[in-house]
Amino acid sequence: MSEPKQCRDINKLKADLRKKILNILYALKHEGYHPFVLETLRSAERQAWLIKKGTTWTKHSRHQDGEACDIGFKDERGSVIWDSAFTGWGRLAHYAREQGLVAGHDWKKRDCPHVELP
Ligand SMILES: [Zn+2]
Repeated sequence: MSEPKQCRDINKLKADLRKKILNILYALKHEGYHPFVLETLRSAERQAWLIKKGTTWTKHSRHQDGEACDIGFKDERGSVIWDSAFTGWGRLAHYAREQGLVAGHDWKKRDCPHVELP
């Protein structure tokens, strides 16, 4: 089975989350980072695919309800940053908390790009 494509449409998120994500992106850009929306709404098909791949362990993700969003970062040249030591993850978590959201960065099993409604 090939990878069901990830959705990056911010309009698929619940309105309350969408507003907060826009605030977070704005704040991060203001600090000089280059954040972008990595994934918003996830289909059941894609979730099943991720479980099979071993990327996730959750049967039902909040992404499937439009209640979670993943935010990635690019460097100056436009390459996606995956380094877990990157300072942007901490800033993302900071602004997520400030907006009253839960940051995957704070979890024991860290999920740096992940942000969700409480
Ligand atoms: Zn996520």
